[in-house]
Amino acid sequence: MATALYRVILHGSKTSSYTRFLCRRMMSVGSVVSEDAISRLRDSGLLKTQGLINGDWIDAYDGKTFEVQNPATGSVLANVACMGNRETADAISSASKTFSSWSKLTAGERSKYLRKWYDLLIDHKEDLAILMTLEQGKPLKEALGEISYGASFIEFFAEESKRIYGDIISPTIADRRLFVLRQPIGVVGAITPWNFPLAMITRKVGPALASGCTVVVKPSEFTPLTALAASELALQAGIPAGAFNVVMGNASEIGDSMLESPQVKKITFTGSTAVGKKLMAGSANTVKKVSLELGGNAPCIVFDDAEIDIAVKGSLAAKFRNSGQTCVCANRILVQEGIYEKFANAFIKAVQDLKVGNGLMEGISQGPLINENSVQKAERLVNDALSKGAKVMLGGKRHNLGMTFYEPTVLCNVDNDMLISREEVFGPVAPLLSFKTEEDAIRIANDTSAGLAAYIFTTSMPRSWRVSEALEYGMVGINEGIISTEVAPFGGVKQSGLGREGSRYGLDEYLEMKYICLGNIKDA
Ligand code: ADP
Repeated sequence: MATALYRVILHGSKTSSYTRFLCRRMMSVGSVVSEDAISRLRDSGLLKTQGLINGDWIDAYDGKTFEVQNPATGSVLANVACMGNRETADAISSASKTFSSWSKLTAGERSKYLRKWYDLLIDHKEDLAILMTLEQGKPLKEALGEISYGASFIEFFAEESKRIYGDIISPTIADRRLFVLRQPIGVVGAITPWNFPLAMITRKVGPALASGCTVVVKPSEFTPLTALAASELALQAGIPAGAFNVVMGNASEIGDSMLESPQVKKITFTGSTAVGKKLMAGSANTVKKVSLELGGNAPCIVFDDAEIDIAVKGSLAAKFRNSGQTCVCANRILVQEGIYEKFANAFIKAVQDLKVGNGLMEGISQGPLINENSVQKAERLVNDALSKGAKVMLGGKRHNLGMTFYEPTVLCNVDNDMLISREEVFGPVAPLLSFKTEEDAIRIANDTSAGLAAYIFTTSMPRSWRVSEALEYGMVGINEGIISTEVAPFGGVKQSGLGREGSRYGLDEYLEMKYICLGNIKDA
């Protein structure tokens, strides 16, 4: 195991002295990867288990903690402060006090703090990635990718903060001048999920801080350690106490405190549709601005004219990234009749090559699912599909590694009425559906209440445009399965959410417009 990790890490061109030390030590004494990594993180000050309020690391006021487990082994990684409404109220009031000073800094001054934070995230990339793999389960290579991706939002918004522009409008009355200012909205409550423990935070906190807002973040209780380590680096970057607070523990208490507070002006959330709807309803009382990134049900449409290698590679990436646990993962693979058999054979062969195991091991591309509920959901949806005529082509059950490992699975004969086509499976199960015409594909793809990401594979340019325009989705990948980037707007339509994250549009979510009318301009 130690040798394998050594190779994984050394595979990259740049390795820190720590990773070399860690690997040598593991090889010489055969110690357990997670214990070594955890003790190193503790020594480096990045293993934080308390909440961050007004620049101080704080225990829960009643001393309660909850366990964070490694989903690959079940071992307890840390006991973390279990906070609730009292801590959240204090975090909100610290953010509110800091808003007056943080929002008055120039964009250039705020930018420097964010840039420093970005540099520190990159400097600690390997530590953060190991921590992420330990608590979330994704393979180390994917975790390293997420650190870069997550950090990129901080870099991007450090730059973009300098490009917040207002407007001057031609007046309708000669002695008036009309202006539009864009000002930060105020304190932001950010609630994030476990599948991207860093990126979902930075995608919200980056633009919020860049625009002059202050933030209270609630990371998922499954993955608070990456969030807390990143927060320590924010402190080291000099981001002022109170501008960035973190609480976690009792999700509904924390959420309700944010909703009830008139000081919180905006809620930004990534997670399940059910919780998103609750937060939207709860925001009505104080009329908060809301942005939501909720569940998807991504169609991945392979047309007869697709280039087979590109379609297989793209569908594989869109489906099996993070073991199928992303809201933009392909949930239904629609394949046109003429290419169905050829695609299915090549796709199954590619899925067979995916290696399941502990994400710290070399060559692993599929880690465990986050918890037992996720495995049971996959089982329920697969069983429903089988009972209605679907067939298992590969996998179809728990992996013999035990824990929450599930076999990479391909089902055929799936139709759009089965539960697996209606709900997000959020696991490594690829259902294949066949269709006859382009119109059929569009109709089936749009027959869902979700509208986040969609993918199409075709070599026809006119078809690319036609189908992209007809798809009721916020994002479309053409001949590409991985489309997320900090420079493009991420978000959905229909019940997949409101608002966009990343890109220059992502700043709009944290800014209010103020119209100013200057009257009685007199000639000199
Ligand atoms: P998932 O099923 O992906 O975990 P959730 O919507 O349950 O999605 O979780 C996403 C985030 O929402 C997590 O940080 C979770 O703790 C938080 N959360 C869950 N329930 C509530 C709630 N009632 N109020 C506020 N946040 C919540």
